[in-house]
Amino acid sequence: MAQKLASERIVEGLGVSPGVGIGVAYVCESGSPRIPEYRIRPADIEAEQRRLREAVVRARRQLTRLRSKTRDRAAANECATEEVLYLLDAYIMMLKDSRLLRGAYERIAGERINAESAVQAEMAAICDSFRTMQDAYLSARAEDIREVGNRLVSQLTKEPGKPLFSIPHGSVIVAEELTPAETAQIDPEHVVGIAAQMGGPQGHTAILARALGLPAVLGAAGLMDAVRSGDPILVDGELGQIVVHPTPSALQEYRRRRGERQEEELALRKLAGQPAVTRDGVSISLQANVELPMEMEHVVEAGAAGIGLLRTEFMFMNRPMPPNEEEQYLALRALIERAGGQCVTVRTLDLGGDKGPIPFVGQFGDSATSPLGIRGIRLSLARAELLETQFRAILRAGAHGPVRILLPMVTAVSEVRAARDVLARAARRLYRRGVELPAALPPLGTMIEVPGAALTADALALVSDFFAIGSNDLTMYTLAIDRSDQRVAHLYNPLHPGVLRMIQFAAAAALRARIPVCVCGEIAGDPRFTPLLVGLGFRELSMAASNIARVKRRILDLDLLAAQRRTQLIMDETDPLRIQVLLEEFNVAPV
Ligand code: PEP
Ligand code: MG
Repeated sequence: MAQKLASERIVEGLGVSPGVGIGVAYVCESGSPRIPEYRIRPADIEAEQRRLREAVVRARRQLTRLRSKTRDRAAANECATEEVLYLLDAYIMMLKDSRLLRGAYERIAGERINAESAVQAEMAAICDSFRTMQDAYLSARAEDIREVGNRLVSQLTKEPGKPLFSIPHGSVIVAEELTPAETAQIDPEHVVGIAAQMGGPQGHTAILARALGLPAVLGAAGLMDAVRSGDPILVDGELGQIVVHPTPSALQEYRRRRGERQEEELALRKLAGQPAVTRDGVSISLQANVELPMEMEHVVEAGAAGIGLLRTEFMFMNRPMPPNEEEQYLALRALIERAGGQCVTVRTLDLGGDKGPIPFVGQFGDSATSPLGIRGIRLSLARAELLETQFRAILRAGAHGPVRILLPMVTAVSEVRAARDVLARAARRLYRRGVELPAALPPLGTMIEVPGAALTADALALVSDFFAIGSNDLTMYTLAIDRSDQRVAHLYNPLHPGVLRMIQFAAAAALRARIPVCVCGEIAGDPRFTPLLVGLGFRELSMAASNIARVKRRILDLDLLAAQRRTQLIMDETDPLRIQVLLEEFNVAPV
């Protein structure tokens, strides 16, 4: 009997990362933790049990550290901790030998499931058996088991650099919402596309999708009702469409378009070795933004003139404790060495806002996830020990190649001064430890991404060694548009004269103070904006590595004088629509 074919459904959203991904839907149910569940081959049982053993060791180490810190605080009379110490001892014991561990190892072998699933299943079984006994003591023990089990699961799934989604090859991730931290764990070897009901094109989830080179559509209303796990699905990151059960002719059409894009990419690759110079001979330095170490290969391939923005959040995401100095140093050193002598601009931690909650700075509550709260430099100065550790790691890594240090979300001169003091302290401490450092400290720069900073750029230029214009946040804060909210995405416009005037003011302040200035927001990677940015005086642009060739192609075709004339016209205009037309006209027929 002929099987009835499911009918094609199209869900519209915002195309935030280009390309076409064709695969099978992997739906992450909302609210449930994104823990991979999969069967393993008999040959992999031993490796999986080893993975669990290693996670146990890490969790135990983590708790032991926590215990000694707690004890020190108790000694300094900072808090009443006898009870906490007792609890931590109990957890550590549980991580030596317990029914939870024994059961998890047995499940890996007996049920042939991955370690995360085995811990989850055993944890649920123990807690269930305690619940049926209705005993207050046992219900408290169930809490302890959950605490230890969750720590183990998080050690297993949330190791930095280790993909959370150990899911089948050829999957398209479908979710109500994907946080940047979750996106950072996607393994692009397994996943061919991303589709989510929430999220805007300028949010960090979108930026990470672009960094991973995965086609993505966010802000797709009704998506979760239209897709089931296992459905054949297609994500069109250019048109902003998700097609569920695409028809054979639709698939053919999309494959054709995918082929065209691949051909264009191939042609663009030829530009990698060429310098970016305008037709009238002005060199523009095209640098790369890096979110994840795995991007370095593309950065080198693309012929980037250094890293204009290294977002260090990847080291801090998905973990209950911040990385220590050594861990940060090793990660940075690997990146710097891979940059092969090109300068790496390391931005200090900019967690908070839409980049997600920060488990280890819980004391700030909701403020740390509010775009107007404790984020960026505010958080770093409030927890100066975190900043100092990060500075020490950067200073040490700086011995392996040129680095600059960049401070995010600055609003005041005093913040830059305070950060400089912490930097000097970090250097002194290293010096006392006998660590050899280059004679001069690395340049310390300021992100201009808050209107207050842009409008006082002349003052900030006096205390900064360079500027980096963060047009993403500058647009968000100037226009009061949440960059990750799909409902206001249509209002997000970096061509608004309010935004452009601030960028112009900051650029002029930097040029007057003779400090380097770069644009590292998303507009730097969009060739439509290139004439305007070059016309405003920028000679350094930093962008996703995948955009370098397109921007270079635009520069090779650009006449600086013509771009400056058009920029003048644009800057005299007050209507955002008219500005857009002026720019588009110039891009089509430069006069
Ligand atoms: C910006 O705001 O433009 C920027 C580059 O920083 P991020 O996108 O990481 O907030
Ligand atoms: Mg920013």
